[in-house]
Amino acid sequence: MKKDNLTTTILLAMLFGAILGGVLNVFFMDIYFVKEILVNNAFDVVGQIFINLLKMLVVPLVFISLVCGTAALGDISKLGRLGGKALVFYLGTTALAITLALGLALLIAPGEGFNKEATVSQEFVAKEAPSIAETIIALVPNNPIEAMAQGQMLPLIVFSLLFGIAIVMAGEAGKRIEQQFNDYNEIMMQLVVIVMKLAPAGVFCLIAKTFALQGFDVIKPLLGYFSVVALALIIHGVVSYPFLLKTLSGLNPWTFLKKMRGVQTFAFSTASSNATIPVNIENAEKRLGVDNSVASFTIPLGATINMDGTAIMQGVATVFIANVYMVDLTTGDYLVVILTATLASVGTAGVPGVGLIMLAMVLNQVGLPVEGIGLIIGVDRLLDMMRTAVNVTGDAAATVIIAKSEGALDREIYEKSE
Ligand code: ASP
Repeated sequence: MKKDNLTTTILLAMLFGAILGGVLNVFFMDIYFVKEILVNNAFDVVGQIFINLLKMLVVPLVFISLVCGTAALGDISKLGRLGGKALVFYLGTTALAITLALGLALLIAPGEGFNKEATVSQEFVAKEAPSIAETIIALVPNNPIEAMAQGQMLPLIVFSLLFGIAIVMAGEAGKRIEQQFNDYNEIMMQLVVIVMKLAPAGVFCLIAKTFALQGFDVIKPLLGYFSVVALALIIHGVVSYPFLLKTLSGLNPWTFLKKMRGVQTFAFSTASSNATIPVNIENAEKRLGVDNSVASFTIPLGATINMDGTAIMQGVATVFIANVYMVDLTTGDYLVVILTATLASVGTAGVPGVGLIMLAMVLNQVGLPVEGIGLIIGVDRLLDMMRTAVNVTGDAAATVIIAKSEGALDREIYEKSE
């Protein structure tokens, strides 16, 4: 199947999955066969297998592709520059995202007059967030195999970078191994292609299951909160990134958005930036024209530390909870929210639901009750899907902009229509 056909098929699968799930939810969920056999078994099995397939690719792909990318750079100073640019971009866009979210939330004021007693809320127990010192120490793996086995992204990135640098320093031996890694990389890309062939079925089942189980009733009482988060996500996705892309790289932003649709669908249906890494890397290299030396570094890094969509949810949630509990936040509090949500986004793992856990850290900083999270858990799955799509778009936008500035972007591939 040609690539553009595959993207269209995946988008259609998502649409049909949502429609079927919605219909099942409204009319058929009290039928045993539908609920237990179809939704909780058939859809679940296919969906989970698909997520496993994606996750299966992540560790070998990140390792191999990052080693190739670092070895190809051949110059440690370039790596430092790349890392510096990525950090500035990632932190900057996250701060921008949360500022936008706070602005909208203050304007629309969701949660004012909200009757929390009348809402079915769930108990929320906050987990302890790791300290900053622990987070920094954990960047360096004491056992790279363990880091791989546990899928810990940042230590894996650090090990892969060092391995790639060592290849450059190892002369002839390094050259031989670099060649092998390039071959492995080709093979991994083929593996991504194989998994993508199963994507329509996987996406369909994941989306159908979520919509069948979720329903829209949970949204109604929280419509204000839900809409403000959704609005901020959309603005950030279709205005902020295109604007940055245009002004910082001069590239046509619509081409970028069009070519990101497939990746966004993966992020939306899996709600996991990590599981989307393979597809995002492949898309950046094959369709956006980014060189492997940049994409292999910035995308896994972004999937781990760059969560603009998550920061948006946290900003709106903070204002919402403050309104519900009738707490007045000062300008200083909002600055604290911007700072902590940016840091929380760095510490949020690219897996479903973690953004909500990290929200506890933000609420704590401004003295808001952490139990407030219980009010919004009900709609979080759907918002998680949406914010993950924004998260991965941010990683790809940074990748394109940085690649362009490094002369590592093939304009012909970028502009090639499909
Ligand atoms: N699911 C999000 C991601 O993987 C993280 C979150 O906000 O919970 O990017």
